[in-house]
Amino acid sequence: MSKDYYKVLGVEKGATKSEIKKAFHKLAHKYHPDKAGGDEERFKEIGEAYSVLSDDKKRAEYDAYGRTFNGAGGGGPAGGFDFSNFAQGFGGQQVEFDLGDIFGDIFGGGRSQERRGRDISIDIELTFKEAVFGVKRKVLLTKVGTCDECDGTGAKKGSELVTCSTCNGQGKVHEAKQTMFGTFATTRVCETCHGKGKVPKEKCKKCDGVGVTRIEEEVPIAVPAGINNGEMVRLTGGGEAVPGGTPGDLYVKVHVENDKRFIKQGYDLIMPLSIKLTDALLGNSQKIETLDGELTLKIPQGVSFGEKLRIKGKGVPKGGSSRGDLYVKIDIQVPSKLSRNAKKAIETLRDEGI
Ligand SMILES: [Zn+2]
Ligand SMILES: [Zn+2]
Repeated sequence: MSKDYYKVLGVEKGATKSEIKKAFHKLAHKYHPDKAGGDEERFKEIGEAYSVLSDDKKRAEYDAYGRTFNGAGGGGPAGGFDFSNFAQGFGGQQVEFDLGDIFGDIFGGGRSQERRGRDISIDIELTFKEAVFGVKRKVLLTKVGTCDECDGTGAKKGSELVTCSTCNGQGKVHEAKQTMFGTFATTRVCETCHGKGKVPKEKCKKCDGVGVTRIEEEVPIAVPAGINNGEMVRLTGGGEAVPGGTPGDLYVKVHVENDKRFIKQGYDLIMPLSIKLTDALLGNSQKIETLDGELTLKIPQGVSFGEKLRIKGKGVPKGGSSRGDLYVKIDIQVPSKLSRNAKKAIETLRDEGI
């Protein structure tokens, strides 16, 4: 459970500050999760170790307590990669490290606590044909979106922007937290200006200066050809807006209606077809209804049960102009009742050795 921060950074216990800093930079670059060979867990661990050992006071506390830090990593929301304020237990107390600040030093402060709007998910129903060829749909959504009156600025038309008084135009607010290690500085986005540093002198009436409001929006959805039942189409940024942040995504779950006439197999379509025994024996032409409309199928003489007749290029579009194939799977109807005449004729066939 306990962790040796000196080992994590690969330095001696008596390492100087510059040795620690050098080791940290080297390792942080090596394990940065955006790099090939990166390792998120290691990266967090390195940041954690550095945040303690780089600070005289924290380091002294750590040295005094030995290796009594509990719990590894742990922080961050599931799936996300949030360096800000992840906490470690220490003697029952919570210690906050603002890793965003530490890593901001080297990586240009990219990973800030940017806010993101909620994702929205909706369901749509498609016919089999729509799913094969793709379709464009328009869906009416009620959601929190960018205010169309002020285009998200939150300002009344013609109103100028003034410096936010909460953060003095910095866009963020510093807070000091008291812990047993001393005072930790944390930073959060200013809630008055949502990180912009400026606020409108006069607020937009429609959104009350927030920049987002409940809107009704007609969203065009382009469903790609060949989509399967249960698959999702994701529209990046199609979710709910949030002041000063990026909008969430819109997820469209597709339900495809069954069509008994067809079975989809990758890019190919299988179409079962019942033909008469005589057509199988003698061959014939037959009109069939495909997704491309009516076609005339040539049934070769002597076709057998279960045989697949290929109609090239009438399957699922592959992108570009190429398409999979349509296979007509032959089922031969064997008559269960025979007229006297038919029976006679077939007996003649038997005499022929057929
Ligand atoms: Zn507005
Ligand atoms: Zn502000």
